[in-house]
Amino acid sequence: MNPDLSKSGGPDIDISSLLSDDDVVAPVAGAPPALELRGVTAAYGKIEVLHGVDLVVPAGKVVALLGPNGAGKTTTLCVASGQMCPTAGEVHVAGRRVTGAAPSALAAIGVCTVPEGRGVFRSLTVRENLRMATYRGVKLADVEDKAYGIFPRLGARRDQLAGTMSGGEQQMLSLARALVTDPAVLLLDELSMGLAPIIVDELYQQVQRITRHGVSVLVVEQFARTVLGVADVAAIMAHGRITSVGDPSTIESELSAAYLGASS
Ligand code: ATP
Repeated sequence: MNPDLSKSGGPDIDISSLLSDDDVVAPVAGAPPALELRGVTAAYGKIEVLHGVDLVVPAGKVVALLGPNGAGKTTTLCVASGQMCPTAGEVHVAGRRVTGAAPSALAAIGVCTVPEGRGVFRSLTVRENLRMATYRGVKLADVEDKAYGIFPRLGARRDQLAGTMSGGEQQMLSLARALVTDPAVLLLDELSMGLAPIIVDELYQQVQRITRHGVSVLVVEQFARTVLGVADVAAIMAHGRITSVGDPSTIESELSAAYLGASS
């Protein structure tokens, strides 16, 4: 299923550099896409919900995957992260075929998911949540430095239980936990869920900023306004298929029709 997952293909970035605009990683000409789905179909039991999804996330870019409820956006992310095995088609990360690889194997090559609903441990403090992100002998102090550098507000709340923080702060913690693992490909599911527009703007500014350091992002959103402002490419999904891909401003003009059409 998975011929070569022995070596990380991700950019070895230092997230602490996110504090400044120095050391920006220029895209490598001719580099393979960070993530590519080719003709992916997927099913829950006997019910097929993805019917041949083709999607490319170029290296260092933000791709927004938009569409109405039930279109198949989260399922697409599940296939990309290895949580779900496609029934047909292929998944490639940095040019390597990884179809059917386990989530842990994909995580090891830098594919990192921030799930819908934030995925923080509510009964643990901010610091304890960050401790869960330490790996391969990385020190908690270094992880904290990076996380608080990206989101200073988390530093002020390091001893607070995550479950008592605002929704926006919990989403910052969830994003920070992902970023401190130095991801190559970040998969974001409904970052804006339940948050005030000003917080969503702040989160997406940070997302856009990390792409300058070599991280590639696939972001799923039902509500498009903010993400279209930071996306390099946007795609519309409906009924388990990508129905349109292009420049965010072009896609924005097609969205109303796509959402109305999906309800019929
Ligand atoms: P939303 O924006 O509402 O989260 P989505 O575009 O992310 O929607 P998916 O969650 O991928 O859509 O769902 C695609 C289809 O698969 C839907 O028809 C949904 O009912 C179905 N589905 C999703 N999860 C399951 C599951 N665990 N078991 C059975 N069917 C599922």
